[in-house]
Amino acid sequence: MAWFKKTRKPIAAGSKAKASRVPEGLWVKCPDCSQVIYNKDLTANLNVCPKCAHHFRIGAIERLRMLFDGGWVEHDPGLVSTDPLHFVDTKPYKQRLRASIESTGLKDALVVASGRIEGVDAIVAAMEYSFIGGSMGVVVGEKIAGTPVAGAGHSLGEYSAYVTAGALKPADAAKLVRRRGELMQKAGDERRGTMAAVLGLPTKEVEAACAEASQQASVAVAANINAPDQTVISGDPEAVTRAGDACKKRGAKRVIALKVSGAFHSPLMEPAVAGLREALAAAEFGAARFPVIANATARPVDRREQALELLADQLTAPVRWVECMRMAAELAPGATFVEIGPGTVLSGLLKRIVSGATTVALGTADEVERFLNG
Ligand SMILES: [Zn+2]
Repeated sequence: MAWFKKTRKPIAAGSKAKASRVPEGLWVKCPDCSQVIYNKDLTANLNVCPKCAHHFRIGAIERLRMLFDGGWVEHDPGLVSTDPLHFVDTKPYKQRLRASIESTGLKDALVVASGRIEGVDAIVAAMEYSFIGGSMGVVVGEKIAGTPVAGAGHSLGEYSAYVTAGALKPADAAKLVRRRGELMQKAGDERRGTMAAVLGLPTKEVEAACAEASQQASVAVAANINAPDQTVISGDPEAVTRAGDACKKRGAKRVIALKVSGAFHSPLMEPAVAGLREALAAAEFGAARFPVIANATARPVDRREQALELLADQLTAPVRWVECMRMAAELAPGATFVEIGPGTVLSGLLKRIVSGATTVALGTADEVERFLNG
């Protein structure tokens, strides 16, 4: 006869259960009240003594397993503590690290993970005490401060996003962006195009106006969907003019012609695609530390091949910035958006896309430093 009716599947004793300090064996004696408790009952009671409520020590992974509804995604699973100070007490710290990594199966004393608790999104940081007594290794701070959940960059900013994510080296990104510029310039020289900003008209209306204004040899498209009421259109000059007029008829507050050398993010950039694909394929492009949300699809990208494909697609596809920001807000509800680079244009747009979003704009090296050290 079971003493407890288990409504949830008990925590399985796998290799990870080693981290638990609940002793192995059939039963255990509570250190507080001396009650003898069967291990399976202790497990069913979430490692709390059923008589006196003494909490047995459990491991970080076990804590996550008890808290989350199902699975979880660990943040920065690859971050490993190092020993930059070459610290020695009674033993070299390096040795202690090695032993702890071996015995706990963890890389540091802190596990940070995203999952759901009773259906609600949650991020949990659990300290593993058996990892050198919860010693604050060099990566604990980084784990608590958190790496970004995701990144995104507007148009060529998508390259900056991959630099931030560690997939691209800054110098390689600069070379790619230069090549991209040359190819776009060339495409613009071959077929002259232009762009215009449409203010105060919903995107759907702008798209309809573009469709209306497009003919077989002269097209206009919504190219940068920057805010729900701010869209940049792009295409052949006559079509852009027609589309701008159609937008005004549909109630646009303003249509502003932009001084550009080509119809960016439109089908007119097609001649640039093959060359950019070639340059991207040859570039050193590594694994990203966090997913980058692609302009072209507004979906998080986590594979190299997909990243390269979408960076090339971006030339002829619209910058779906509104959807990108909504996706970011969905991935990390309540997270802070950090705008890196001069000005606060993106923070301004964001406020119109995700109401109540918290933003930080870092425009100078000093501001970046203060933010990182703050
Ligand atoms: Zn007890």
